[in-house]
Amino acid sequence: MDAGRRYFLDRVARLASLAACASAYPGAALARTSSYPFTLGVASGSPRPDSVVLWTRLLPDPLNALALPPAAYSVRWELADDEGFRHIAAKGETAALPELAHSVHVDVAGLQPDRWYWYRFMLGDAVSPIGRTRTAPAAGSMPLGLRIAVASCQHWEFGEYAAHRHIAAANPDVVAFLGDYIYEWGPFDLAHPLKPRHKNISADLAGYRSRYAQYKTDPNLQAAHHAAPWIVTWDDHEVSNDYANDRGEAPDPNFLQRRAAAYQAFYEHMPVRLPPLSSEPLRFANMRIYERYDWGRLARFHVLDDRQYRAYQVCPKDGGGGSTSITNAQCAERLDPARTMLGAEQEKWLAHGFASSTAKWNILTQQTLMAQCSQTPVAADGDGKFWTDGWDGYPVARQRLFDDLQKHRPSNPVVISGDVHTFYAANLKRDFYSKASPANPVIATEFCGTSITSSSRPQERTDQYVAQNPHIKFGRSDKRGFMLLNISAKQMSTYFLALDDVARADSGISTLASFAVEDGRPGVITRA
Ligand code: FE
Ligand code: CA
Repeated sequence: MDAGRRYFLDRVARLASLAACASAYPGAALARTSSYPFTLGVASGSPRPDSVVLWTRLLPDPLNALALPPAAYSVRWELADDEGFRHIAAKGETAALPELAHSVHVDVAGLQPDRWYWYRFMLGDAVSPIGRTRTAPAAGSMPLGLRIAVASCQHWEFGEYAAHRHIAAANPDVVAFLGDYIYEWGPFDLAHPLKPRHKNISADLAGYRSRYAQYKTDPNLQAAHHAAPWIVTWDDHEVSNDYANDRGEAPDPNFLQRRAAAYQAFYEHMPVRLPPLSSEPLRFANMRIYERYDWGRLARFHVLDDRQYRAYQVCPKDGGGGSTSITNAQCAERLDPARTMLGAEQEKWLAHGFASSTAKWNILTQQTLMAQCSQTPVAADGDGKFWTDGWDGYPVARQRLFDDLQKHRPSNPVVISGDVHTFYAANLKRDFYSKASPANPVIATEFCGTSITSSSRPQERTDQYVAQNPHIKFGRSDKRGFMLLNISAKQMSTYFLALDDVARADSGISTLASFAVEDGRPGVITRA
């Protein structure tokens, strides 16, 4: 039995209970659709030295999530050594099930390490666009370089996805996406100009599916998926603004149902392997997405999930959920050591990932700004004003992470972040407001990307933040774009790339700033 067939059967077995709870569909899988089914393009991701996940979803009418009948379709796929598909390295057939929105995930095994491949899907005589992907280098090898594009926060209503066109053109080995792939909010309701309300909020499976479909119609976003494998995590807006663990911003007795629907839609639209699922009735009630990816001995990605397991935000307004900005004098609970950002299990897993890493660069691939960022000048006793949804809401958990970095000493830790719609470059220290010293060394370097489109605060306020937080070496919130990291054994170069105009799909882009980190020397080196 070939690997594809075995995979298919394995997958069907794993999904059998899912299938049982959906409406019955004909035993024989359908072999074609009446109109072109690959409107959302293709994607690949989660690269290993011998495997990569290929993705597509059948959806003839992307703005109508119910366009296909509730039947299974049998989709063919091919992966080739060349763009012309003259030499096929692997091929097979897999099911697109209605229970999973006719999404297709193929975990192609048995591939060569450190190689580019091309792939496509076929249904009847319809052929998908061609995607390019690659495997990770072999374990133990030392590749010469690694180029990572880092993206996050692509609110549909706030601009065009020109940044994704530039990501594709930058020819990255990997795209790291750090969350807010969708925003559950719909367009602003202009009928309420004084108190803008969002209408058309995604809150159930159909709503989240149609949101992903809408976003994925964008040709520039598709181009970035077609250019390279993605390593993805999520943030709050894949579910709802500022959610924490099992609590939303607004009281909602059915929040876990909503979260399960959102997690399922995330799986259905991302090039990730099917994680172990919960027992019924909510199959996607819990979904592990934190994971490690190794790039030979050059780099290890520690991909984190800081949403699913975190303690609730402290001292919320009006006794509900969600974030606020507070001082210690107003809210001593912020400093409670029991508070967790990652959950005990993921913390342990991360420490093990540090301890076991042989990589030159250890890249914490995660959602939100890790550097402390007081919104007011910090007082002599260390009090300032802190935003409770980011790592500043979980300062003791952050110290534990620093403890683990200092204990296990993984080589060259670099934190990459999104969420705050701002370019930041920062030095991470135990005591942020004391000068670096042997007792208070720079432990890691942080680069936070801006957003692909999502809006941010005025630059004057960001200038204040940078002035009040001297470990933050750079801050720009007035630009949209992405980050590019060029990594070699000796050095990491980071480029902050800013769009001329987020309102234009044909916007140009330029380098706003660039930085280096040298092997063995944590901390931001600002280039001219
Ligand atoms: Fe965002
Ligand atoms: Ca966010």
